[in-house]
Amino acid sequence: MGHSSKFIFVTGGVASSLGKGIVSASLAKLLQSRGFSVGIQKLDPYLNVDPGTMNPYEHGECYVTADGAETDLDLGHYERFLNQETSRSNSVSTGQIYASVIEKERKGVYLGKTVQVIPHITNEIKERVLALAGQKNLDFVITEIGGTVGDIESLPYLEAMRQLRLELPEKHSLFIHLTLVPYLKAAGELKTKPTQHSVKQLLEIGVQPDVLVCRTEHPIPEDMRKKIALFCNVRAQDVIEALDAQSIYDVPMNMLAEKLDQVVLHKLGINSYKDADLSEWKAFLERLHNPKTEIHIGLIGKYVDHKDAYKSVHEAFTHAGAKLACKVHIKYIQSENLTVENAKDAVKGLQGIVVLPGFGARGWLGKLEAVRYARENNIPFFGICLGMQASVIEFSRSVLGLANANSSEMDEQTPYPVIDLMAEQKKHTHLGGTMRLGNYTCQLEKGSLAEKAYQSLSVQERHRHRYELNPAFAEALEAKGMRITGKNPETGLAEIVEIPSHPWFLAVQFHPELRSTVLNPHPLFVDFVKTIAMQAKNL
Ligand code: GLN
Repeated sequence: MGHSSKFIFVTGGVASSLGKGIVSASLAKLLQSRGFSVGIQKLDPYLNVDPGTMNPYEHGECYVTADGAETDLDLGHYERFLNQETSRSNSVSTGQIYASVIEKERKGVYLGKTVQVIPHITNEIKERVLALAGQKNLDFVITEIGGTVGDIESLPYLEAMRQLRLELPEKHSLFIHLTLVPYLKAAGELKTKPTQHSVKQLLEIGVQPDVLVCRTEHPIPEDMRKKIALFCNVRAQDVIEALDAQSIYDVPMNMLAEKLDQVVLHKLGINSYKDADLSEWKAFLERLHNPKTEIHIGLIGKYVDHKDAYKSVHEAFTHAGAKLACKVHIKYIQSENLTVENAKDAVKGLQGIVVLPGFGARGWLGKLEAVRYARENNIPFFGICLGMQASVIEFSRSVLGLANANSSEMDEQTPYPVIDLMAEQKKHTHLGGTMRLGNYTCQLEKGSLAEKAYQSLSVQERHRHRYELNPAFAEALEAKGMRITGKNPETGLAEIVEIPSHPWFLAVQFHPELRSTVLNPHPLFVDFVKTIAMQAKNL
């Protein structure tokens, strides 16, 4: 373990979706801006080994790390805020913990002992938390515990953190509890009782929170802060107000104003530290909130009803737009409803079209229709993963004249499997963790749109897919004007396709959105937004 690492545990109370991930990432950002090294980790209480097997409707987007772990979308926030890659060890689920304990039990590692939640499960949890600190010799590890205090599932995590606090030296651990202070319209007041109750629940399991972060729609008056402090057994200055923010990216500044980082540092015995250097972050916020121009684009997918299903793509457009001081208005279009007849109306007024990642045949024809519309009408088009596969199938059908060309994912019997499973994928029998995952190198063609956008001939991008462009059709596609401008140097598999005769038609087999951060917007997103804004003479 990193000898001097300090541990911050973040719990949530009263309700879910209060934004523990954003508060954790914001605190991490502030500590980072004062020169400390910080890692953030998410402990998730579900029994799935990872969210890779969960429907995006259940759990939002599945985020993929460079080392190929399928994780919770909060890891995306960590990367976007800190501009620092996460890995497999930043994401822990109860499924992983149990799988590991059961495997050890089968191997006989526990030497005949009865295997129990305490100590075996809790030890396994503690090891994961300590391991992260040790791996990178971090100054701080922020561990976010998923779920809400009071849930049965998160009890072992809270118990493990309680134990860890006693095992660590004094002033080496700290509990932050995020709660909700609701506003009752009828009474015209904020209510502190739910916060009192959730702190009480924490106390029952032996955890006294050190800092309370209170989500609220209205400013919390001083006397109410004092009341919360009194009833929850903390000092008034340890009650931090987290007022609803205009954007998640404002939260670090709000937390700075509330002195969250300073309260934390002092409690952990650190009394001398640098001023926070947030100049680049502030410049980003300035451009984000004061755009000089705007564009309208459509994002086509089938999970559009869940606001978190395409989180990283959405944020990547926020970063790219802010870089150019251009407000990117996004219209989400349900691909299931898109037909030859209504496509024109659905995309009316949109200056760019994106076909999103996805799985399965539902809404597939709508995606093909969106590609066709963009291709034929010279509307800038950006395809991502399944969106790339859709662009290749549409081109095969419309331009190559291969009727019923398809991805074998959508039609196993297709006469022209232009997108197909490669031998490597055919052998898998399990769904979990068996896709092509994580970083792969992509070699770019000189003079291509991709090369111009990236300003590089070789890039590393993250993957999450099973199917590939079938090399048997590569020549035919290229002969008719769809160029393969990015390839995996080892396998020769297609990573990027472009149509050079179109103003901006580019589709990628990988997930560029996963690498976009506030301080490092992704070049393909930037180029797409820039091209549209320039076409509209908005830039
Ligand atoms: N379903 C496609 C595949 O598995 C695309 C996956 C994706 O868009 N992430 O290849």
